[in-house]
Amino acid sequence: AKELGGNRYEVADPDADARAITRHSLTNRLPGALERGEFFVEYQPLIGLSDGVVHGAEALVRWGHPVHGVIGPDRFIPLAENTGQIVPLGRWVLEQAVRQAEVWQRNHHGARPPRVNVNLSPIQLHHPDLVAEVSRVLDDSGLAPEALCLEVTESALIGADQDALKPLRRIADLGVEIALDDFGTGYSNLSSLRWLPVSVLKLDRAFSRGMSHHPADPVDLKIVEGIVSLAHGLGLSVTVEGVETSAQADYLRDLGCDTGQGWYYGRPAPPEQMGTLLLADAS
Ligand code: C2E
Ligand code: CA
Ligand code: CA
Ligand code: CA
Repeated sequence: AKELGGNRYEVADPDADARAITRHSLTNRLPGALERGEFFVEYQPLIGLSDGVVHGAEALVRWGHPVHGVIGPDRFIPLAENTGQIVPLGRWVLEQAVRQAEVWQRNHHGARPPRVNVNLSPIQLHHPDLVAEVSRVLDDSGLAPEALCLEVTESALIGADQDALKPLRRIADLGVEIALDDFGTGYSNLSSLRWLPVSVLKLDRAFSRGMSHHPADPVDLKIVEGIVSLAHGLGLSVTVEGVETSAQADYLRDLGCDTGQGWYYGRPAPPEQMGTLLLADAS
């Protein structure tokens, strides 16, 4: 600790220094990373809890950094949001995911055509070209709008006025599904579910944490039971994140959750792996 005078101390934190240096070098390399082809998309399966069938996948972006290796989105999305680069990056992820879903659908002969979920940053949500971009990407690929689900976080929508929600409503009118991501983590406002154009609630993995082993935490069971009943009463479907064990899958299915996502079913992986899963399902 370095004495600053008086009773104030500055605590030296080598980890914080290392993080700051990496952040600095990431920020420097971010412009142009898209053009250099350094990003790639992985897909994590979304599974129907009652039938075990693959319903689709969530697209999750990664940065293959030439010096630091593979960097997770939590580390560079905030930087890309600060610089506005999230707009071209988010558009690229959307294009990749929609094209990929179209390929899966073409090669798939099971009962349910696979769908794709794409995360949308609040910055993209407020960009004037968003609606046109989404319909252009769908038109170019030939993917049905119903096969695309855009995930927006609660915090991006809380406090948004009706004008700010217009683009989202127009996208929903195209037939695209909207999911409320990380539900229950921010400043939840249950009454906002009355007027948000969402059709899916994605429960944060905090809710399934207490169900990873038998017996489950009775309070977590009650909370999820209540959320599912509210969601279904409003005509929304419920997806749960962070399903890591068979105990969680069992509890969540019995509580009436519709879809599960997590390591128990599959980690985020290259698109070929999803293709294999989908083929296994169809046979
Ligand atoms: P998210 O949308 O909540 O995505 C779920 C995160 O949970 C992913 O982390 C996923 O790998 C992780 N996960 C999945 N299953 C499990 C599990 O069973 N246990 C645990 N502990 N974790 C699990 P990831 O890929 O690191 O992404 C982090 C966040 O980055 C995402 O959180 C999302 O908010 C953001 N993100 C990812 N891709 C994009 C993108 O293309 N655009 C935008 N705007 N944000 C993105
Ligand atoms: Ca998400
Ligand atoms: Ca989430
Ligand atoms: Ca999250």
